Amino acid sequence: MRLMDIKDNTMNEYVVNWTLNEICNFNCAYCFNKKKDLKSKFKFSEKILSKKIYKNILNLKETAKVLLIGGEPFLHEDIIKICKVLTKKFHVTIATNLSIEKKIQEFVNCIDPASIDRLNISCHIEEREKRKEVYDLIRNIDLLRKKGFNFILNYVLYPSLMNRFIDDYAFFNSYGIKIQPKFVRGNFDDKFYPYAYDHEIKNKFLIIEKNEFSNSMPINARGLQCHINSNKIKIDNGVIRKCSYDKFQNNFSNAHNKFKFDSDPVICKNKLCNCTARFKFADFKEVHYYLYEGLFLYVYGDLKGSKEYFCKVLTCDNKFSPAYNNLGVIEYDLGNFKEANKFFYDAMSIHQNNSLYVKNYVLSLLKLEETEKAKNFCVEFLKSRKNERIFDLSEKISRKENFDLRPEISIEFNPE
Ligand code: SF4
Ligand code: SF4
Repeated sequence: MRLMDIKDNTMNEYVVNWTLNEICNFNCAYCFNKKKDLKSKFKFSEKILSKKIYKNILNLKETAKVLLIGGEPFLHEDIIKICKVLTKKFHVTIATNLSIEKKIQEFVNCIDPASIDRLNISCHIEEREKRKEVYDLIRNIDLLRKKGFNFILNYVLYPSLMNRFIDDYAFFNSYGIKIQPKFVRGNFDDKFYPYAYDHEIKNKFLIIEKNEFSNSMPINARGLQCHINSNKIKIDNGVIRKCSYDKFQNNFSNAHNKFKFDSDPVICKNKLCNCTARFKFADFKEVHYYLYEGLFLYVYGDLKGSKEYFCKVLTCDNKFSPAYNNLGVIEYDLGNFKEANKFFYDAMSIHQNNSLYVKNYVLSLLKLEETEKAKNFCVEFLKSRKNERIFDLSEKISRKENFDLRPEISIEFNPE
C-alpha cells in the first residue's frame, strides 16, 4: 500500500529541503514558484545566505537527504560549489528544468554521480517547444545518462496537456526516456485538482502503471498529529519552516540559527496538505491508509479499486463519513444517482454540518429530478447557519441556472 510503504521506508529519514532561489528562465503556465526578474535583488542575499545555510546544514548531527529546489537551482551562481560541499556529507537531489547548458556541463564534469541521489527533471513540454529546446533536453539527459546520474523526467498533467500526454509519452519513450506523470494539485479554473480530472482523461492514465505516478494526494489532515518536525527542515529565503503548507507553524527560525530536528509531533492546523508524505503521522490509523489509497485510485481512474478501499474504510470504522461521501461520488460518476443519493445521505447523517456532503446530496436530488426537495433542503440548512457553498447552490437552483457541478470527493482525514 502506497502510504504505508512510504512510511516504512522513511521512518528514520531526515530531509532538508532548500529553496536555493526563486528565479527561473522558464515561464510555465502552472508555476507558483518563480520570480520572473532574473536580476532580482534576491540574488545578492541568496549568495550571502547560501554560505550560512550550507554551513548550518553541514553541522547537522543527522545524515539528511538534501533536496535543492528553485526557481531554477542551476541559475544560482554557486550551484556547483554548493553541490561540491554538500555531497561530501549528504545525498543530494536537485529539482531542475535541466536547461542551463553551461552549468550542467560543469556539473556532470565535477560532481560524482554516486553522491547525487537523483535529478528530478521537469519536462514542461509547452515551454520547451516555445523555446525550441525539446531536443536540447534529450541531449542533456543523454549527458547525465552517460555519466551514470540517476534521474527522473516528470510531466505535469496540466489539464490543457491531457490531450497530448499519450503522444508525448510515446515520443520520449522512443528515446529510451520514461516520463513520469505528475498530477496537478490545487485550484485551476475553479476546480480542485487532482480530484477534478474528468473520466475521459482518467481513462488515459490507465495505460500507465500506477506506480509510475510520482506524487502524493492532497489531503486535509487538520487535527492529526504530524511528525514533520522530527525529520524535515525547509529553507525558504533564509527562513526555516517545518511545514510548507501550514501557515500557523511557519517561520520556525532563521538560517542564522543552528538547524535541528525536533522530536515532538505538531497538531496539523492546515486544511490542505500537499506534502510528499516523507513524514509520519503519529496517529494515522488503518482507515487513513485505506482512505488515502482510495483517493489515489479514484484520481488514477480505477473506480473499482477505489470503491474497494472506501468500503474497507467502513469495515474498520462504519462512522467514517468521508468514505460514504466518496462512495456516493463514484456511484454518481457511474450514473447511479439513487445509490449516490443514499451514500450522501449516510455521510450527512454522521456529520450534519458538513456542507460538502449537503451539496453532494442536493446535487444527487437534482439528478433524481427532485428539484423542490433539493431547494427546500438548502433553505432548511441555511436557516440555522451561514454557508457560502450552499447559498451559491441554492441561488443557482432558484434561478433555474444551467450548471455543471459535480459532487466532490472528501479529503478529510479527521472528519467533522
Ligand atoms: S521550470 Fe519550474 S520554476 Fe521554472 S517556471 Fe517552470 S515550473 Fe516554475
Ligand atoms: S500540512 Fe501536512 S506536513 Fe504540514 S503539519 Fe499538516 S500534515 Fe504535517
